Amino acid sequence: MTSTARPFLNRRLAEFGTTIFAEMSALAVTTGAINLGQGFPDTDGPEEVREAAVRALRDGRGNQYPPGPGVPELRAAVAAHQQRRYGLSFDPDTEVLVTAGATEAIAACLLALLEPGDEVVALEPYYDSYAACIAMAGGKRVPVTLRPYEGAFRLDLDELRDAVTDRTRLLLLNTPHNPTGTVLTREELAAIAELAVERDLLVVTDEVYEHLVFDDAEHVPIATFPGMRERTVTIGSAGKTFSFTGWKVGWITAAPALVTAVRSAKQYLTYVASGPFQYAVAEALALPETYFTAFRDDMRAKRDLLAAGLADAGFGVHRPAGTYFVTTDIRPLGFSDGFAFCRALPERAGVVAIPNAVFYDHREAGAPFVRFAFCKRTAVLEEAVRRLKTSAG
Ligand SMILES: *Cc1c(COP(=O)(O)O)cnc(C)c1O
Repeated sequence: MTSTARPFLNRRLAEFGTTIFAEMSALAVTTGAINLGQGFPDTDGPEEVREAAVRALRDGRGNQYPPGPGVPELRAAVAAHQQRRYGLSFDPDTEVLVTAGATEAIAACLLALLEPGDEVVALEPYYDSYAACIAMAGGKRVPVTLRPYEGAFRLDLDELRDAVTDRTRLLLLNTPHNPTGTVLTREELAAIAELAVERDLLVVTDEVYEHLVFDDAEHVPIATFPGMRERTVTIGSAGKTFSFTGWKVGWITAAPALVTAVRSAKQYLTYVASGPFQYAVAEALALPETYFTAFRDDMRAKRDLLAAGLADAGFGVHRPAGTYFVTTDIRPLGFSDGFAFCRALPERAGVVAIPNAVFYDHREAGAPFVRFAFCKRTAVLEEAVRRLKTSAG
């Protein structure tokens, strides 16, 4: 057999050939539809943070390879942030590692911490890179499905316990959760922490939406629970919190031995990234509390606008307690297949959304759900709502 007769993409990645985002964003362009598919803001973050990046560039800070673990200013700022908000103490030199966004942190954690055949229990629907990174690391994913219950998607703790086997190496958590907007409660996290201690599991927790929790929901890092500090890798990112998703500045905080392990994988992925932006994010993390409050209030108002509009247009709405996204149920509109619905929506209504089924192994469990992003200008959301109502009516 010649080398070109074999498929180029290897078996580990064959199922991850193309992402839905490419298809849907292309549809948005050809139809002129409003793209509420992919989760990125349509306005940039704070001017002073952008200026801080310009200053770093001009002053020649970060234009050459920064230190492997990240610039000291940013590692100190991350440690100060975890201390101030959550009372978690991390040594900036041994317990903080800067990454090329949360995306690289996720990849480096899984590549470093898994042996081939290790099982990873993760909440389904998943953020789309989890399944691919578990596969690249040779691990086996074991989904625990979040199910609709009283207007939100909830975790069944018994199902989680049953998913853990002798082959389970780690729990991969995400709270606030993309795409459902679920924020795990203190009680749920306490139970998950107990399970992790009892079964001696590592926990990797993706907390990139830590600053986007609404109403009376509260973000509690699982690293704060008894027995968790030494077994948890917490992932953060500047992209979502400061509305600079193109900068790709992320980080992990963990005990020294875990940071050392993850750094071993990270150094052969990007080695380092985003030099000048690291300095700017160090300043951003030190912004006064008023920034974080105003950002959250603004995003909550956008959530309310889009959630109310979608309900008026006839969707079943699961009101998110956090993140950039609202997950809807299309069955009240007379549809049941989110894929077909999202492929037709740009032409029919001039709006792009994402079928949640792509984030599931149990596709049927996600079939009737469709995700809309609300991290867009108010006028854009208003126009999207107007279009959806018109097409429904
Ligand atoms: C956006 C997102 C990421 C990726 O973050 P970057 O810092 O842009 O790499 C990771 N996890 C979740 C849940 C996200 O929504």
